[in-house]
Amino acid sequence: MCGIFGIYGHPEAAKMAYLGLHALQHRGQESAGIVTSDGTRLYTSRKMGLVADAFPPCELERLVGSAAIGHVRYSTAGESRIQEAQPFAVGCRHGSVAVAHNGNFVNVEAVRTNLETKGSIFQSSADTEVIVHLMARSQADDLAARLTDALRQVRGAYSLLVLTAESMVACRDPFGVRPLVLGRLRGGFVLASETSAFRLLDATYIREVEPGELLVVDGNGLTSHFPWGRQERRFCVFEQVYFARPDTIIDDRTIYQDRVRMGQRLADEHPVEADVVVGVPDSGLPAAIGYSQKSGIPLELGLIRSHYVGRTFIEPQQSIRHFGVKLKLSAVETVLVGKRVVVVDDSIVRGTTCRKIIKMIRAAGAKEVHFRVSSPPTKFPCYYGIDTPHRRELIAASHSVEEITQFLDCDTIGYLSVEGLRWSVGDQDGAHHCEACFTGDYPIEVSDHVRERQLKLVGT
Ligand code: 5GP
Ligand code: SF4
Ligand code: MG
Repeated sequence: MCGIFGIYGHPEAAKMAYLGLHALQHRGQESAGIVTSDGTRLYTSRKMGLVADAFPPCELERLVGSAAIGHVRYSTAGESRIQEAQPFAVGCRHGSVAVAHNGNFVNVEAVRTNLETKGSIFQSSADTEVIVHLMARSQADDLAARLTDALRQVRGAYSLLVLTAESMVACRDPFGVRPLVLGRLRGGFVLASETSAFRLLDATYIREVEPGELLVVDGNGLTSHFPWGRQERRFCVFEQVYFARPDTIIDDRTIYQDRVRMGQRLADEHPVEADVVVGVPDSGLPAAIGYSQKSGIPLELGLIRSHYVGRTFIEPQQSIRHFGVKLKLSAVETVLVGKRVVVVDDSIVRGTTCRKIIKMIRAAGAKEVHFRVSSPPTKFPCYYGIDTPHRRELIAASHSVEEITQFLDCDTIGYLSVEGLRWSVGDQDGAHHCEACFTGDYPIEVSDHVRERQLKLVGT
């Protein structure tokens, strides 16, 4: 998973990109990058770590120009190295070009092998570089046509931003699996994975980039193209369940609203006699609010989250096994002691974190623990950009609800139904979403090679 941001026609483009990326930090913490253009050439900066650490003021001063694209990375395809950090910026016979990408190409191995046999040399293992190579080989004479040529040869879920000295192109895959929104800031244009970036900049939200839409932003303003025609939208429902920030707007609704609805529906589907509702911070909180509203069981902050845990914190290997979760979460005994507790979280992936949380809640004196999950059992892997380490060992893929209840050591578990999830996001028959990790119905065909790669990851 990743976050992307673009701005065109602003005197402080790098600083705006810095702020925009900061508001997208939840989408990736591994590396951050900004590439700017001053109309004649590109300036690049890419670092490992968080946005706030990656760009000291002197670095931003160096990134001159009135156009910029930026990226925060959460490694999915590819390894974790500075070479994998984005945006990718290279010089080719068409001039300098930089690409920022969120998503995953599902036939990338075949395309890559084909390019390598023709002599291409790759610097990284990330999918994005393949696009740059394909664009460089294109015979077309403008940027949009070269990008279209390249994208015709790959399949997958992607939102892309491409920057050259003169122009910027934004593009969303034909199914619109990954998000991308368009806004205005003063006289210029802004693009971002989520509207949360616009709010920080005081930019005006215009609309989503449509599935399959390609936007060119240059000295002439904005032009829209649909090189693949228009297709039905299959937006990633897991963005609404977990990934996107609650203040983000999708489909004219805030993510927060949808998550509260998930919790309300969960209370209808899996009621229980209890004394208190506790959300697992931060991702479980809106659904816990919904569960409490609908059930009438009071909501309390029974778990407190530390916001100061960096990814670099060194965890002792064997001695203190539960250290990781304890660093992040702490139980409030006065809320939990002697109580029948409903614990609400957004998803169970491997089950290992949830198990530790339940243990913590029991240790604080809870009498009963009823786990409620505001999404259906996660049974199938994601091939479209959310294959984090968490995705690789899905407990619900190989265990029944009873077995999971035992493993987590809770009294009951209730998962939101697929129908309940559809109702919550306002898509009655699920026709406009990808729900593959819950249903196994993949909207974009996945090559065997990619499935095998995923299987290998499961084995590691
Ligand atoms: P588990 O108990 O399955 O190990 O972890 C479940 C928790 O992980 C939930 O609180 C959920 O919010 C979070 N989660 C779900 N998907 C992802 C993901 O892709 N990456 C990370 N870092 N956390 C996730
Ligand atoms: Fe999103 Fe799941 Fe589809 Fe992946 S499989 S795009 S996580 S809904
Ligand atoms: Mg969580």
